[in-house]
Amino acid sequence: MSRVFNFSAGPAALPEAVLEQAAAEMLDWHETGMSVMEMSHRGSDFMSIHAEALADLRELLAVPANYKILFLQGGGLGENAIVPLNLMRGKSGHQNEADIVITGVWSEKSHVEAQRYGKMNIAASASDTGFTAVPAIESWKLNKSAAYLHLCTNETINGVEYHFTPDLAKTHGAAFADMPIVADMSSHILSRPVDVSKYALIYGGAQKNIGPAGLTIAIVREDLLLNDAGQSRAHPMCPSVFNYKTLAETDSMYNTPPTYGIYIAGLVFKWLKAQGGLKAMEAHSRAKATLLYGYLDSTNFYANRVSKTDRSLMNVPFFLHDESLNAAFLQGANEAGLKQLKGHRAIGGMRASIYNAMPLAGVEALVAYMKAFERAH
Ligand SMILES: *Cc1c(COP(=O)(O)O)cnc(C)c1O
Repeated sequence: MSRVFNFSAGPAALPEAVLEQAAAEMLDWHETGMSVMEMSHRGSDFMSIHAEALADLRELLAVPANYKILFLQGGGLGENAIVPLNLMRGKSGHQNEADIVITGVWSEKSHVEAQRYGKMNIAASASDTGFTAVPAIESWKLNKSAAYLHLCTNETINGVEYHFTPDLAKTHGAAFADMPIVADMSSHILSRPVDVSKYALIYGGAQKNIGPAGLTIAIVREDLLLNDAGQSRAHPMCPSVFNYKTLAETDSMYNTPPTYGIYIAGLVFKWLKAQGGLKAMEAHSRAKATLLYGYLDSTNFYANRVSKTDRSLMNVPFFLHDESLNAAFLQGANEAGLKQLKGHRAIGGMRASIYNAMPLAGVEALVAYMKAFERAH
């Protein structure tokens, strides 16, 4: 067997130790004589896997007690509809209005989808920069009538990441102190500690930095599930399987949850704890990103166009100065065991995704290859 360095943006590489354990337990989990895939989601064996995954995730992210962790399906894009259906009516049950900051392809998609359910105001957009920066927070035009503010805190395709936590009371005054912030963290969740209490809702598809596609994680503050009348805030047309309140009340077991995805995610949570938790992952990510950006900035052969203060530690898009060499670059990389470096079709060029499971050795091998390719051309 030979494993490659897989730079895919998602579904992405998983820790080898996790895959080995899953392989060893595939046919017979803990002497039950069955695979986790074959278990009833309501049986005590799976319930213990589920409860442990929840507890480990709560510990890793230090999720406060007044937040529910939900394991659901639908992916990051599903949440573009599920969030407005659950939260857009706001406390009083009728606003149907929210604000969004657009920083790239994913928040653009969130904007378009949410408009099917209500009014989604663009508080700020970085489109004039070609999505290479987070618009200065002081410039965000927030609306008091908005039920929440939507952010994508790591733009996977554009390689733009928030390296700050918005403090709206400070930048926009006391009137915005309680504005709920919804964050799509699909591609950097668990890459570093986050102050969950500063957000109303954090969500992400699992397939970038957590586990297999099919599992979506939502961490929601409990009071957002209800309106002023103490009833569900969700739109009556919200499907029951996507109603956060229903999911919270049934411990994500209203219908069959993505059981195998939850099991693998649970193994990843244990692996993260063994690595030293999210502080250790942040140091690991910084070391990898510093190496790669440092090299990109040292040469004119390649370029990363993102403003230095907003560069993603997870997704590093880069371009060859001479784009006619793209095919040769990718072919040589493939031959060297450096896989899935082709950039997203929306912006072209190359992209190296360096999530938690990418070892430093993978980035070292990539930089060595890039240097050799530069010398040869
Ligand atoms: C990948 C991604 C999505 C879409 O996820 P799906 O699971 O394919 O729906 C949404 N937002 C961000 C930031 C992503 O990286």
